[in-house]
Amino acid sequence: MDFLPVSLNIKDQPCLVVGGGEIATRKVGMLLRAGAHVKVVSPVITEELSELSATGKILHHTAAFQESDLVGVMLVIAATNDVTINQHISDLARQRALLINVVDEPALCNFILPSIVDRSPVMVAVSTGGASPVLARLLRARLETLIPASYGRLADLGARFRGQVKQRLPDIVQRRRFWEHIFQGPIAEMVHAGHDNEACLAVQSALDDTPNSLARARGEVYLVGAGPGDPDLLTFRALRLMQQTDVVLYDRLVTPEILELVRREAERIYVGKKRAFHAVRQDEINQLLVRLAKEGKRVLRLKGGDPFIFGRGGEEIETLAEEGIQFQVVPGITAASGCASYAGIPLTHRDYSQSVVFVTGHLKDGSVNLDWASIIQPKQTVVIYMGLTGLDQLCHELISHGMPATLPVALVQQGTTPQQRVLVGTLTSLPGIVATSEVHAPTLLIIGNVVKLRDKLAWFEEQP
Ligand code: SAH
Repeated sequence: MDFLPVSLNIKDQPCLVVGGGEIATRKVGMLLRAGAHVKVVSPVITEELSELSATGKILHHTAAFQESDLVGVMLVIAATNDVTINQHISDLARQRALLINVVDEPALCNFILPSIVDRSPVMVAVSTGGASPVLARLLRARLETLIPASYGRLADLGARFRGQVKQRLPDIVQRRRFWEHIFQGPIAEMVHAGHDNEACLAVQSALDDTPNSLARARGEVYLVGAGPGDPDLLTFRALRLMQQTDVVLYDRLVTPEILELVRREAERIYVGKKRAFHAVRQDEINQLLVRLAKEGKRVLRLKGGDPFIFGRGGEEIETLAEEGIQFQVVPGITAASGCASYAGIPLTHRDYSQSVVFVTGHLKDGSVNLDWASIIQPKQTVVIYMGLTGLDQLCHELISHGMPATLPVALVQQGTTPQQRVLVGTLTSLPGIVATSEVHAPTLLIIGNVVKLRDKLAWFEEQP
C-alpha cells in the first residue's frame, strides 16, 4: 500500500492553492465543496476564480508565492506550471508538516486526490497511487453506473435513525442485520424511487417491530458456486451473498482472490478435503452447517465450480432440508466450462462433437469404474474431473475399450487462473508428457477431436 486512503474534514479550515489556471480552478471548486476556506495565490487567475473572489467565496492574493503564504494553513495544493516553484512549495510545506499536493507530481506529494464518485455523504474514491489517473477515471466511470444517485439519500436515512437503532438494538449483530434489511430490501427501493417519507415511516415501523422480526429471523445457508478460479467469473448473486454472510466454509478449490471478496468480518472456516486425507469429514461439514444456521447465522458454503457438479452440494443441502433449515443454491461456472473456454477448446462443435459427458476419474480402491461403453462413443467430448492420479489407468482403459489411441487429450492445470497451463497429447502420449512436466492440481482432462481447435482458438495467456 503506497498511500493510505483517508477522508479529510477540511470544513472551515484554511487551505492554500498556488496557481490560477484551469487546474487550480478545479481544485478550488473541490475544496469549496468540502467547506474549506480557500486562499488562492497567483499573479493571474481565471475568470471563474475572479468571480469567486469578487463574491467573497475565496481570498485572492495577486502575487507570486511566498513562504509566508503557508502560515496558518493546513493543506496546500501547488498547481503552477513551474516545476521549480512546485518543488520549492513542496519542500517548504513538508518542512512545516503540512498536507501538500503538487498536481501531476506524485513524488512531490504527501497526499494525492483520488477520482471520486460523489453521492454525498457516500463517497467512493478510486486511486492508482498516481500510477495512472486515466485508469482511475475509467474505473470511476464504471462505479458511477453501479451506484445509483439515490445512495446519498439512503445514507441520510441511515444517519437519521442511527441513534435510535443503536439504543433499541444494543447487540451489534442484530444491528447489522437490521441495517442490511433496510438497505437491501423494499425500503431501499422506496428511497431509490424518491419516496423518502414513506421510507422513513417504514424504517420506524420496522424498528418498532424489531424484537419480533429479529426473533423470527433464522439462520440460513447459501450454497454458492465460486467458479473455477478467476474471480471475474463469479455471478452477481454469489458476490452479493458473499458480502452479507456471517461465516464462510470453504475448501481447497476456492482461490485466495475469491476468498478475499467475502465480507471481511465473516468468520472463515477451512473444511477442505485433500485426496486420501479428509480434513473435515463430509458428515461433519453437514452437521457444522446445521449447527451454525441454528445459531441464527447466515452461513456461506462456498465451493469451487458449480456446487451440483461433483461437489457433494446435494448431500450438504439434503441434511439442511431434513433439519428444516432455509437454504439457497447459487450455480457457478463448472471447471469444464471454465477450462474449456480459457484453453480455447469448444466442448461441442458441429464438425467434431455433438455431445459432451462429464465424468469423475476418482479412483475407488485403486481403480476407475466407469461406464466405458457410453464414454467411448465417437463424436463426443469427454471431460474428466479428478483424473490426474489415475491418468495412466484412464488412458489405458479408454484405449482398450475402443477409443482411438491417437485421440487428442488436453490436460488443463489451474484453469482460468494466471497459473493456467495446458498440456496436449494423445491417449497414448499424454501420460508420458505429464510424467515429465511439473503438474499442479487441480487439473481437468478434455478428450476428443475438439482439442485440435485449440491451435486456432487459444486466447488466454498461459504459463509456458
Ligand atoms: N464442483 C467443481 C468440481 C469439484 S471436483 C466444479 O463444478 O468445477 C474437483 C475437480 O474439479 C478437480 O480435481 C479438477 O478436476 C476440477 N477442477 C476444479 N477447478 C479446476 C480448475 N480451475 N482447473 C482445472 N480443474 C479444475
